[in-house]
Amino acid sequence: MRLIAVLIISGLFFSEAAHSQSIGESDLLGHIEILASDAFEGREPGTIGENKTVNYIATAWSAAGLLPAGEKGSWYTPVSLVERTSETYRIKFTYGSEGGSEGKAVRIQQDEIILRSRSSAFRQSGMPLVFAGYAERGQGEPSVAGKLVLLPRAPLDDSGRVPDFRDRKQRLIQDGAVGVIAVLDESDRWTRFQRSFQRASTSLVGAENHAELEGVISFDQFEKMMLKSGLDAETLLADRDNLSVIDLSFKADARAETQVRSYRSHNVIGRIPGSDPNSGAVLFLGHWDHFGICRVEDPLDPDKDGICNGAVDNASGISLLIETAKRLSGGGQDRDIYFLATTAEEKGLLGARAFVDNAPVALEKFVVVFNADTVALADDGTMIAVVGLGKSELDSDIAVVAAQEGRKIDRSDKADAYLKRQDGYVFWERDIPAYMISSAFADEERLKVFLDGPYHDVSDEVNDALVLTGAAADANFHVALGRYFSSTGTYPGIAPSGSGDN
Ligand SMILES: [Zn+2]
Repeated sequence: MRLIAVLIISGLFFSEAAHSQSIGESDLLGHIEILASDAFEGREPGTIGENKTVNYIATAWSAAGLLPAGEKGSWYTPVSLVERTSETYRIKFTYGSEGGSEGKAVRIQQDEIILRSRSSAFRQSGMPLVFAGYAERGQGEPSVAGKLVLLPRAPLDDSGRVPDFRDRKQRLIQDGAVGVIAVLDESDRWTRFQRSFQRASTSLVGAENHAELEGVISFDQFEKMMLKSGLDAETLLADRDNLSVIDLSFKADARAETQVRSYRSHNVIGRIPGSDPNSGAVLFLGHWDHFGICRVEDPLDPDKDGICNGAVDNASGISLLIETAKRLSGGGQDRDIYFLATTAEEKGLLGARAFVDNAPVALEKFVVVFNADTVALADDGTMIAVVGLGKSELDSDIAVVAAQEGRKIDRSDKADAYLKRQDGYVFWERDIPAYMISSAFADEERLKVFLDGPYHDVSDEVNDALVLTGAAADANFHVALGRYFSSTGTYPGIAPSGSGDN
């Protein structure tokens, strides 16, 4: 207890000193150099790299004067994950096997279909095969229960008529489908899907929505099979409005062995207490995780050590959060300010999802959320892109802070493309305004160079390409956002419906 008190006092002292100073490049670089160092092994959840990372963040926030806001008074909230990796599989389709007759085997290339089972082993023979189109299953149409379903992955169309692949898959699983195999469109590149499907698939424990057998098949092999049924593959995939479920008079025998591994990771959560916690809270977040040791080491090239260090993605965002926390700590705000470092963003925003499922306070208490991801790309003087602009009434308040800080907002919609690809999105899904504000996403050219190059690869590391002048300006802007939104004077908030603590 005494130790904690001393830490808080020293933290306050430290943050008072830091309070007035603006954030500079070297402040950010100091953290990035450590978080993206080889010693942190690419910050893969569930590894020694995780231990080092979450400990570093908790120590930095503690020194900044934050209070722990994780489970049982600690800095950490466990996130239980399960990972599935396809090992071996075999599938055989036979055609015309109704009425007890044997049926003819259809030869398909085993490397143009990939399967993964939900449990470590799957084996089933004689599964009837159906094709499920985009429409809802109508009355009198074939059931999918006990069947293996071929389901077009559907390129998104702008009309929004075609429901999301995941939603359609969910419905089929609920209706009792044994397996769901995604069918690629002619335009999809098989090698890309092959690579992504062969990688491990990770889910939150308790939120697993997998069929017993899942997979993906190339267009070529699908076309070959449909020909046997006298069906045209292209026509089947193009019919967006009518097709629901059709029997294919195929039977499938399949087996699959999948490595299933459960493990624990952690979100890190800290809090700056406000004087009026009933007035709501502000949340800053960023993901701490990256891809770990992601490539095979090249013994002849010392630069290719196989570690995806994730300097820009997202050691930069975490460094912004550490420095922002220091400046806001001890500032006498009305609202609580929470700081969250999420795990498993790279595996599908899983740490952020775990947070919203089990937040330390009622989620509606958060009046606004700011996510910091991939901030170290632009020069000082670049406009700020506001991912989430146009989605809530808070736009005008952000504009007030921008005007006050002399920052110009990029009013184009080009950063919108990233809305669903970042942790903030899970808050929008729960109607909590969650912005990602960064000059990096306003500098289209640099962003493209990064995404086409070092992004998610071994070369996203600390080197000359790291630009921190824009990031430092953005960090200071986050301090201003924190002050503005945590004060009921500047941001009274939307009238609470039924207030009260928690
Ligand atoms: Zn990433």
